[in-house]
Amino acid sequence: MFKPALQDGHNRRVSYVRISVTDRCNLRCRYCSAPEFHSHFREEILSYEEIERLVRVLVTMGIDKVRLTGGEPLTRRHLDTLVARLSAIDGIRDISLTTNGVLLEELAPALKAAGLKRINISLDTLRRERFREITGRDRFDRVLAGIKSAFKTGFDPVKLNVVVMRGVNDDEIVDFARLTREYPLHIRFIEYMPIGATSDWSGGEVVTGAEILERVAAACGRLEAVAAAPGSPARLFQLAGAPGRIGVISAMSDHFCATCNRIRVTADGRLRPCLLADREFDLKELLRGNAGSEEIAALVRRAVAGKSASHTLSCNAERKCARVMATIGG
Ligand code: SAM
Repeated sequence: MFKPALQDGHNRRVSYVRISVTDRCNLRCRYCSAPEFHSHFREEILSYEEIERLVRVLVTMGIDKVRLTGGEPLTRRHLDTLVARLSAIDGIRDISLTTNGVLLEELAPALKAAGLKRINISLDTLRRERFREITGRDRFDRVLAGIKSAFKTGFDPVKLNVVVMRGVNDDEIVDFARLTREYPLHIRFIEYMPIGATSDWSGGEVVTGAEILERVAAACGRLEAVAAAPGSPARLFQLAGAPGRIGVISAMSDHFCATCNRIRVTADGRLRPCLLADREFDLKELLRGNAGSEEIAALVRRAVAGKSASHTLSCNAERKCARVMATIGG
């Protein structure tokens, strides 16, 4: 079937959607949620039927990759049924998940059976007490069990997302990097970003990708560059002989907007062309009204056409996104 490519105003092809399936979360990470944040009521969140319908429209526009995120996506019941619905759509070639791993031990087999291809698990520390301080919950062991379960179920690769914050967990950069010598894990160090909840943002907590790589190389030896998947935000490296990979996602210090191929859909059904720009389009209104597929596609095309060339945030910027990350989905 011929699918016209969805192209933005800067000649970037958009082929990837990240969908937040809930803004609820079972952790309270200090940098991601906000004390005053209240999640939406169930009826305000897109239903699985609405998400499936939307993805069916997006597929006709050339989107072939979906990532499910949140909030914590595994807190939404029967997520495997959504994965199964989406993987049955002709033209979807990749479905992945970003999760905090707390509920993964039990759910990994059903998700895999439903068609989930890849998993990213967020873990910012290897220390139980620090985990409780960062996330507000004592769930470290649950996350480790989730990671083990992802391996056992056969997900390959298993990626760990580590948001690096100076003075919070940057003393563990080398410990995380060394894990790649023991396990076929991909450790993805993510620069801390000024999104909603980070109200005390000063930029000082950002540890740049360059500094992360320097610190790893100083402690572990030479890092060899490895090719990353096309459109991937990560620059990838490998320690000599290591089965795992080390990636850095330098969203602040060295942004990768020029190769951005993605759009996002928030839990409450808004299309957000750029993670770091508060410009959104109401898809839910169309999905719940009598809008036909062409009308939905027209809104998507309009939103994508106006996608900015690059975000304007930097390590020193004052400006912050208004939304908290938990509602956008990472
Ligand atoms: N609950 C899931 C999880 O923990 O992976 C999915 C949603 S979470 C918003 C997605 C990713 O965004 C996580 O890896 C999280 O660490 C990251 N994240 C949240 N706030 C961030 C911030 N201010 N800067 C950088 N990354 C952030």
